[in-house]
Amino acid sequence: MFRFQSIKDYHTTLIAEQVTCIQAVEFYLNQIKQHQNLNAFLEIFSEEAMATANALDAARKQGAPLGKLHGVVVGIKDVLCYKDHKVSAASKILENYTAVYSATAVQKLVDEGAIIIGRQNCDEFAMGSSNENSAYGPVKNALDNTRVPGGSSGGSAVSIQAQLCMISIGSDTGGSVRQPADFCGVIGLKPSYGRISRYGLIAYASSFDQIGIFSNTVADVAIVLEVMAGADAFDSTVSNKAVPAYSEAIHQQAAPKKIAYFKETLEHPGLDPEIKSTIIRYLEKLKQEGYTVEAIDFSLLTYLVPTYYVLTTAEASSNLSRFDGIKFGHRTKDALGDLTELYKKSRTEGFGDEVQRRILLGTFVLSAGYFDAYFTKAQQVRQKLVDLTTKLFSTYAILVSPTVPTTAFKLGANNHTPTEMFLADIYTVYANLVGIPAISIPLFKHSNGMPFGLQVMSSEFNETGLLCFAEKAMSSKQ
Ligand code: GLN
Repeated sequence: MFRFQSIKDYHTTLIAEQVTCIQAVEFYLNQIKQHQNLNAFLEIFSEEAMATANALDAARKQGAPLGKLHGVVVGIKDVLCYKDHKVSAASKILENYTAVYSATAVQKLVDEGAIIIGRQNCDEFAMGSSNENSAYGPVKNALDNTRVPGGSSGGSAVSIQAQLCMISIGSDTGGSVRQPADFCGVIGLKPSYGRISRYGLIAYASSFDQIGIFSNTVADVAIVLEVMAGADAFDSTVSNKAVPAYSEAIHQQAAPKKIAYFKETLEHPGLDPEIKSTIIRYLEKLKQEGYTVEAIDFSLLTYLVPTYYVLTTAEASSNLSRFDGIKFGHRTKDALGDLTELYKKSRTEGFGDEVQRRILLGTFVLSAGYFDAYFTKAQQVRQKLVDLTTKLFSTYAILVSPTVPTTAFKLGANNHTPTEMFLADIYTVYANLVGIPAISIPLFKHSNGMPFGLQVMSSEFNETGLLCFAEKAMSSKQ
């Protein structure tokens, strides 16, 4: 039977003719079928994936050089445009919309020989922490079907957890890659803001959004990041910085040794006591291994979630104004009055509750009478956080915290209290507010049987240091 360990190992077996891309695709198509109840995929590109696999097998047999992602079976979150394929942001408003171009990141994957197997379920417009906000039904955690997989990239995380593809690509505006990675026991990386082009990623909050990667190994995350990162004429916010050879660095460079953590993150009353004690024990172990681990005072912790929600909803209200029932997607059938009624009805029918809540909130914080009290204030807090972060990383190389305060909760448990759900983002939104890279690595298991991760952050564009640390931590886990 086909078994996937890592891209490197897969390529070795392909070259040795022990396996084919066709066999890999067949294996995953079968896995997806067996696990349909998880609702991880919204659409499978079966025939196309088989045809691509066939072409790759033929090219390889004729001696063509292997792309970095030759035959790698990839699932993409339903917010990434892939030309001539549907993309809906898990929303009714974009039902049956077909992408007219490919996201730069997706195109780069395809150019290196990746096989895109389908689009993955997520929270509507990437807004949520449980994948229960999808217009196409919730996704289930593969380890315990009564629990959520996390969100918003829930389908992408579960796809790695349940072996439905080799790599998943998600997006992370406030934790949407790291939080579901934590809940599902897989690796989830959010690179620095501007490391990967956002062109072709359906926008939620443009100054926060970043494409991220799910995998079971740091080595594979490094290869995929190397492929997707880099300058792009279509995104003026993407960095021109050269892309380091991350996949080589993780084997050649030592892990950074100076680690900080915010004292308040571990003292937070909402943090599960077992997660707290496990992480404290882990930090002790790092000290014994020769790392410097120091506690830093961080009085702004409780400001993070409010700042994040003021700024992201403001940006969302602007970004989502384009979905008006005329240019894109759903248009109401029964607007008898004027144009305003057409807009209102189309948007009311097309957007789910959470998306409507955020558009309203964002419009409110941007409105004339409240702009200074909310939006300007939040921008000031953001600037303070950026300054503090620059200072922190002039002394330390790594910042660690829990990824999420709890393990995966039960489906339906948080449905009626949006603020409780928002508070679960307390540890992840910081990296997006200040633009630094962050990864969740699945190091731990709770006595309730669920996995949880350690969140590791580093300074802007120091993905190399971050991945070196993560690789060391993962390899000493076994
Ligand atoms: N849970 C956060 C939110 O609901 C994060 C979402 C994301 O990163 N896309 O906004």
